[in-house]
Amino acid sequence: MYKIAVIPGDGIGSEVINSGVEVLKALSKTADNLPMEFTEFDWGSDYYRKHGIMMPQDGVELLKDYNSIYFGSAGDPDVPDHVTLWGLRLKICQGLDQYANLRPVKLLPGISSPLKNIESKDIDWSFIRENSEGEYSGIGGRSHKGYSHDTAMDITLFTRQGVERIQRFAFEIARSRPRKLLTLVTKSNAQRHGMVMWDEIFEEISQDYRDITTDKMLVDAMTTRMVLDPQSIDTVVASNLHADILTDLAASLSGSMGIAPTGNLDPEKRHPSMFEPIHGSAFDIMGQGIANPIGSFWSAVMMLENLGELKASQRLMSAIEKLTSDKKILPKDLGGKNSTKEVTKAMINIISGKNK
Ligand code: ATP
Repeated sequence: MYKIAVIPGDGIGSEVINSGVEVLKALSKTADNLPMEFTEFDWGSDYYRKHGIMMPQDGVELLKDYNSIYFGSAGDPDVPDHVTLWGLRLKICQGLDQYANLRPVKLLPGISSPLKNIESKDIDWSFIRENSEGEYSGIGGRSHKGYSHDTAMDITLFTRQGVERIQRFAFEIARSRPRKLLTLVTKSNAQRHGMVMWDEIFEEISQDYRDITTDKMLVDAMTTRMVLDPQSIDTVVASNLHADILTDLAASLSGSMGIAPTGNLDPEKRHPSMFEPIHGSAFDIMGQGIANPIGSFWSAVMMLENLGELKASQRLMSAIEKLTSDKKILPKDLGGKNSTKEVTKAMINIISGKNK
C-alpha cells in the first residue's frame, strides 16, 4: 500500500490536487496492483490564520511516514509571500533534504507554443534545479528598518557538497536521456565566487561522464537560446534561483503555466519526495472552477515513476497526451472552454477506457 500525504495548500492548489487524487484513484482501480491510500493535511494560509504557522511544528516529522507527498501550492494575497514560501514548501523541501528539483518540459501533442513554427519534438527538456541552498539559503539580515539607512542583505550560499551532488544528479539524468547533452547555466562573469565554483566542479565531474556532451551558458544568454533555438537544448542544470526563473519561462513556452509539473526529490530515498504543479495559487481564478489540472496530473506521473510504478506512470502520461491531442475537452488557458471538473472527468474516462 502506497501512503500518499496530500497537501492541497492555497488558492487553486486544492482544486487541481483534488482532481489529481480523483484521477489517481481511477488509475489505482483499473491497475493490476496499485493500492494507494491518501491522507490529506489542511496546511497552508488558512491554517496560518488559525494557528500563526503554516504547518505544525512536527509537520516534517509526520511526513516521514509517507511514501510520497502530493502538493498543491502556497500563496495568499493576505499573507506575505516569504511567510507562505518559507513556512511550508521550503520547510518541507529543506527538512526532508529534497535537494534535487526535477522539471520536465515538453510540448504536449495538440498544444501550441507561443513560439512560431515549433513542433512537439522541438521542446523536450529536462531542467534540474538545485533545491537546498544557493540564493534560497535564507541567510541574511535586515537592520535599521524605518530609517533612511535601512539595510538588507541576502547571502547566496554554495557548498562543494551541495553543488557536486546536484551536478552529479544532472549528469545521471542526462545519461538516461537519448541525446546525452547537459548544459550548465551560471552567471560566473558577475557572481565571481560561487558561480565560478559551479564551473570548476562541473569541469571536474564531467571527467566521470565522458559519454555526456556538455556546454555552458550564462543565464541571460540561456533565455535567448530557449526562445530562438529550443531544439538545441536537452538537459539543463542551474542554481535554485536561476532555474526557478528559467523553468517559468520554459512552462510558458510549452503552452501554459497550468501544465508543468515538478518533483522535489531526495535521490537517495532517505525521505519521501514531493510532487507538485509548478504554478502558484493563482488567486485571480480561484473558485471559478477553471483551473487547469494537467500540471497536477503530470506531477502524479512523476510521483508514480519515483515510486517505481513505471507501467502506471506511462499509462497516466499516455492518458494526458490523448486528452491534449484529442483537443475535444481542454481547459481555458489552453484555448478550450472546459472546467476543471470536465477535464478531470475526461481523464478518468480515458483511463477507464470509456471514451472510445
Ligand atoms: P504564486 O502563488 O507563486 O505567487 P501566482 O498565484 O501569482 O503564483 P502563477 O502560478 O505565477 O500565479 O501563475 C500566473 C498566472 O497564470 C495566474 O495568475 C493564472 O492566471 C495563470 N495560471 C497559473 N496556473 C494556472 C492553472 N493551473 N490554470 C489556469 N491558469 C493558471
